[in-house]
Amino acid sequence: MRIYDTIIIGAGPGGLTSAVYAASEGLDTLVIEKSRLGGQAYSSAAIENFLGYNKISGKQLTNRAVKQAKDFGAEFVNDNVLDIMRIEHDRFAIIGQFDIYYTKTVVLALGVQYKTLDADGIDNFIGKNVHYGDNVLDKARTCKNKHVYIVGGANSAGQAAVYLSKYASQVSIIIRGHSIEKSMSAYLIQQINGISNIDIQTKCTVKSFEGGNKLDRIVINNNGQDNEICDCEHMFMFIGAKPSTYFLNNILDLDGEGFIITNRNQETSIAGIFAVGDIVSGSVKRIATAVGSAAIAVSGIHSFIANIPIDK
Ligand SMILES: Cc1cc2nc3c(=O)[nH]c(=O)nc-3n(C[C@H](O)[C@H](O)[C@H](O)COP(=O)(O)OP(=O)(O)OC[C@H]3O[C@@H](n4cnc5c(N)ncnc54)[C@H](O)[C@@H]3O)c2cc1C
Repeated sequence: MRIYDTIIIGAGPGGLTSAVYAASEGLDTLVIEKSRLGGQAYSSAAIENFLGYNKISGKQLTNRAVKQAKDFGAEFVNDNVLDIMRIEHDRFAIIGQFDIYYTKTVVLALGVQYKTLDADGIDNFIGKNVHYGDNVLDKARTCKNKHVYIVGGANSAGQAAVYLSKYASQVSIIIRGHSIEKSMSAYLIQQINGISNIDIQTKCTVKSFEGGNKLDRIVINNNGQDNEICDCEHMFMFIGAKPSTYFLNNILDLDGEGFIITNRNQETSIAGIFAVGDIVSGSVKRIATAVGSAAIAVSGIHSFIANIPIDK
C-alpha cells in the first residue's frame, strides 16, 4: 500500500501551490482533482492583479503551475473525493469515486461552486446558450456579433464582460443593486466605462428564460415594477459561490455557511488535515490568498510529519 506524505484535494491555485511547495520540499505528493485542473482561476480571461504578471490568462497560469508541480515530482489523478477517514494514528484514507488513496496528511483545496439562479425556464437552456461563469473562454467565439447578457456585479462578471465585448455586438450586465462600485474593483469599472458596447442595467433581476431548443429571450424585471422582454442569445451568470464541503459535514468543524474553520496555520479541527484558499472560513477569495495559505499549510505538514509518534 502506497502512503503519500500529503494528498492535496483540488487543483485550483491553492492545490497547485500546495503541490509545488510540498513536492519541491521533498514530500511524496498526490493531487486529486475531480474536473479540470486550474479550478476557478482557469476560467479567468485575464488575471491582472497577480504578483509579477501584468496580464496572464487563467489557462496559462494553470499550465505553468501544473508543469512546475510535475517537474518537482507531484503526481496527479482525476477522481472525485467522497470521504476522508482516519484509519490509524498516522494515516488517512481518501475515498474517491474510483479508488482509495492513503496519506499521512491532507490539504483541502476544494474551492467553491457557483450558486444557481432561481428563474423560470432556466434549466431548459443550461449548457446550451446559458452558462455559469466558468465557460466564458470556451464560449466567447460563439458570441460573435450577438447580444450577450451577464448576471452579476463582482470582478468575475466584469472580467467576463470585458473579454466578451471583443466578440459580442453588445454586452449587458444585469445587477440587482444600484451600482457596481461596491462589488467590482475600480480598475475594472474604469475599463468597462471605456468600452462602448458594454452597458449596465441596475436594479434588475432576470425573472424567466424563454425559447425553443435554445434561449431566445429573457424577461427582466426592472426595480420590482415593469417586466421587459429582451432578445438574448447568450447568458453568463456570476452570482456567487458556495463551498464544496458537502462530504465534510460530520468530519470537520465548518462555519454556518459550510466553509472550513482553520487556525492561522491553516490547520483544521483534525490534526494532519489542512485547508487552503477559498474553502477557508473568512478567506479573501483571491489567487494570492490561495497561494499564501498553501505555503503556510505545507510548512505545517512538515511539522506534523516530524512529530507523528512512532509507536502508538
Ligand atoms: C472568472 C473568474 C475570474 C477570477 N479572476 C481573478 C483575478 O483576476 N484575480 C484573483 O486574485 N482572483 C480571481 N478569481 C478568484 C480566484 O480564481 C479564486 O480565488 C481561486 O481560484 C481560489 O483557488 P482555490 O484553489 O481555493 O479554489 P478553486 O479555484 O475553486 O479550485 C478548487 C478545485 O477543487 C476541486 N474539487 C472540489 N471538490 C473536490 C472533490 N471532492 N474532489 C476532487 N476535487 C475537488 C474543484 O474541481 C476545483 O478544481 C477569479 C475567479 C473567477 C471565477
